[in-house]
Amino acid sequence: MKKIITLLFFLFLSAFGVYWLNRARTIQLFGEIYARVETDQKVVALTLDDGPNEKIDTVLAILKSHNVKASFFPIGNLMEKDLSPIQKIVNEGHELGNHSYTHRILSLRSYETIRQEIEPTDKLLREAGYIGDIHFRPPYGMKIFMLPFYLKQNNRKTIIWDVSPEGDPKLNEDADKLSQFVIDQTTNGSIILLHPMNDGREASLHSLDPIIRGLKAKGFVFKTVSELLALEEK
Ligand SMILES: [Zn+2]
Repeated sequence: MKKIITLLFFLFLSAFGVYWLNRARTIQLFGEIYARVETDQKVVALTLDDGPNEKIDTVLAILKSHNVKASFFPIGNLMEKDLSPIQKIVNEGHELGNHSYTHRILSLRSYETIRQEIEPTDKLLREAGYIGDIHFRPPYGMKIFMLPFYLKQNNRKTIIWDVSPEGDPKLNEDADKLSQFVIDQTTNGSIILLHPMNDGREASLHSLDPIIRGLKAKGFVFKTVSELLALEEK
């Protein structure tokens, strides 16, 4: 009986360990992962996930009105349907990253499945004219085991976030509360995550303008993810 209890205890611990590792923001088994960067400078990166769709024009107009460059992580199969929003993002000088082809959870997938999620998506970004580094953001932030192995083998960086207000139901329907939360939580080197083009995320779309205004008023300068990584103090 004692043996069974000990065994169950260790099974529980390892299951918890795998769950924790899958969601950990700063640790993964292989390769480089960033949820923010260490810096004394008042710099921040705005990352906009999912889509693209017809809301891209609104998003790009807001960014342009503040002369802010963001980093977009669009989904491959939506790009395949219509590449024109990505071309607009490229033309406006924003950064683009890879967020997989189908946006499914990539935990516990085979190396080949992961390759098929990432490489066609890279190809579409290049077809749209994007020439910069392509970082990777795992769907739902989950990332064991083969995914980090693939990313390390291919010299790719995993980009997570440290400011993400949309998971809180008290915030995600109210643009004022949502933007205030982001402004309060952002620190030097933060990476903000928003989904302003998704259905049901109108508050996120409407929070973009006040977030940018509020952070600029506090002295923050917006950088792309690559620009932010270049400022990391080793
Ligand atoms: Zn996503």
